Amino acid sequence: MSGSEDCIFCKIVRGEIPASVVFEDDVCMAFMDIFPVKTGHCLLIPKKHYTNMLDVDPDVVAHLAKRLSELTRKVNNAMKPDGVLNVVANGPGAGQEVPHLHIHVIPRNHDDEFRFQFPKGYRDKMAEREELDRVAGLIREA
Ligand code: AMP
Ligand code: ZN
Repeated sequence: MSGSEDCIFCKIVRGEIPASVVFEDDVCMAFMDIFPVKTGHCLLIPKKHYTNMLDVDPDVVAHLAKRLSELTRKVNNAMKPDGVLNVVANGPGAGQEVPHLHIHVIPRNHDDEFRFQFPKGYRDKMAEREELDRVAGLIREA
């Protein structure tokens, strides 16, 4: 919750810097990304400052999820892409640059150059069930 004073998305919420707003309500706001990967690329944010999924209130996420499905359908209807990607980066290590929770909604086409790149050779060998069960247990108990 720190840094909301200087936060660029909080400034958008407060109306201190411009944004092309798609919709907003008491809890969230959807606006166009200023560096669109594709035409129609927009962002959905909570109005209250949370850094990412690691500190956000679960009730806020529930509201965002509802509005995300609406925004995704609207982008799909308006842009008529081959598909729509929803992405959230949590932390700089995951590629998060703006430290205010935001969900990207990005229209995609089969032949676009946008790549969500997995490591080379990751499908060469399927994981062992025992290993998957072990890691599932670690996450369950965390
Ligand atoms: P991320 O790398 O997931 O943190 O993405 C941050 C996104 O915010 C990028 O796609 C930027 O283009 C976008 N962005 C940064 N500043 C603004 C702004 N003032 N208005 C709209 N989008 C912005
Ligand atoms: Zn903020």
